[in-house]
Amino acid sequence: MLPLLIKEIFTLPPGQDLVVRGWVRTKRELKNLVFVEVNDGSCFKSIQCTFDCSGGDRGIFSRLGSLTTGASVEIRGKLVPSPAAGQAVEVQATELTVTGEAPAEASGDTSAYPLQKKRHSLEFLREIAHLRPRTNTFGAVARVRNRMAFAVHEFFQARSFQYIHTPIITASDAEGAGAMFQVTTLNLEALAAGSPAGGAVDYSQDFFGKRAGLTVSGQLEAETYATALSRVYTFGPTFRAENSNTTRHLAEFWMIEPEAAFFHLEDNMTLAEDFLKSLFTAALNGCADDLAFFDAHIEKGIIETLQSVVDSRFTRISYTNAVAELEKHAGLFEFKPYWGCDLQSEHEKFLTESVAAGPVIVTDYPREIKAFYMKQNDDGKTVRAMDVLVPRLGEIIGGSEREENLERLEGRMAELGMNKADYSWYLDLRRYGTVPHSGFGLGFERLIQYITGMANIRDVIPYPRAVGQAEF
Ligand code: ATP
Ligand code: MN
Repeated sequence: MLPLLIKEIFTLPPGQDLVVRGWVRTKRELKNLVFVEVNDGSCFKSIQCTFDCSGGDRGIFSRLGSLTTGASVEIRGKLVPSPAAGQAVEVQATELTVTGEAPAEASGDTSAYPLQKKRHSLEFLREIAHLRPRTNTFGAVARVRNRMAFAVHEFFQARSFQYIHTPIITASDAEGAGAMFQVTTLNLEALAAGSPAGGAVDYSQDFFGKRAGLTVSGQLEAETYATALSRVYTFGPTFRAENSNTTRHLAEFWMIEPEAAFFHLEDNMTLAEDFLKSLFTAALNGCADDLAFFDAHIEKGIIETLQSVVDSRFTRISYTNAVAELEKHAGLFEFKPYWGCDLQSEHEKFLTESVAAGPVIVTDYPREIKAFYMKQNDDGKTVRAMDVLVPRLGEIIGGSEREENLERLEGRMAELGMNKADYSWYLDLRRYGTVPHSGFGLGFERLIQYITGMANIRDVIPYPRAVGQAEF
């Protein structure tokens, strides 16, 4: 049998002899009793192990001294109903093994364990990202992240979307979604030395024989599989060399991109709405203790917000009508809304909070502010784009029906000065057996931020990569 986890211990009936394994959170002493809280990260709760030292087991008593916060232990004992409030069971400890000490004070070349009982700032914890999963906050974030990753697969698999792996290294820049990291094996030092004036680089000498980079989106490749397998999704790492030091941008993040053949924009909207509701339901049901913690200590009201999204019907409104609504209240905004403008956060907030009082899907945006591949409407001005906006955040999902008509797509690419030859494989999807198809993108870390209420995106991924930051 595998070693018992603490989450499993909590499901057992009292009376069992068992072993608790984990890391000490706290230790309290009261007369002859020593109370030790042990956590193993399998669930939010720690289990209390009580040592009764009145019997005079001096052996255990002497070892209790090394039971400091952060020490790893194996504690044998009996599961009993707990007299203490707030816990159904505790362990009456009989044997103790300290597998690894965590000194509370520096000694020799070992410094003190940095995670002492007091509260630490999120900034400080970012500097010890290798230890922060041992805190309540980061343990909870990691469990929510895990549950949501699983829920993404559950949702799509249940609807016959097939998981595909799109390349991480690519030579195509999907829509210029963001600046790309370059991938090269050229000897940069030699190039720099040989060309002080900055001559042209001969990429035919590079590893791939041409300029390559890290993917900014798997969408275009996903489209190729959607026009073969009907329904697919990607869920993988994405990279953007954005020099923006915000609380919402990382250089390396994870993105979910479903793509489905014979889906029109309406189907895409239905899918996106069902998807968010299903993820939030999984979080509410599967991570109740973690969410209760976020609600109490990180952001009040998040459980209610998530539940309200689950219970809502998303309002669908065209960009043109949304702007008309905004213009009626132009005085409220710093950035004056007008037809053709990109919606700002303040506009998105107003739409979800005042116009719809719930999630909103805005459709049919001006073509100028959207990507080249979106399906053009007959009005010649708008495209079949959709952004899903949620209360408190604004845009959480962006998607569209794709242009499936070859002439129209080529026409738009020409207007934008794009090189047709670079996209010949993408255009083939329209040359051979073209179909209406649609998809969207959801940034996984933005989702986790929304669910946990964590303000900084650097705190919802284990090892954040951002401008000037690639530690661990
Ligand atoms: P933003 O305007 O917030 O920069 P975007 O318009 O660049 O987003 P898209 O190109 O539509 O975003 O990418 C799809 C999704 O990926 C976004 O909705 C967002 O959730 C996420 N995303 C985009 N850039 C980043 C980033 N740098 N870090 C984390 N997530 C991101
Ligand atoms: Mn961006």
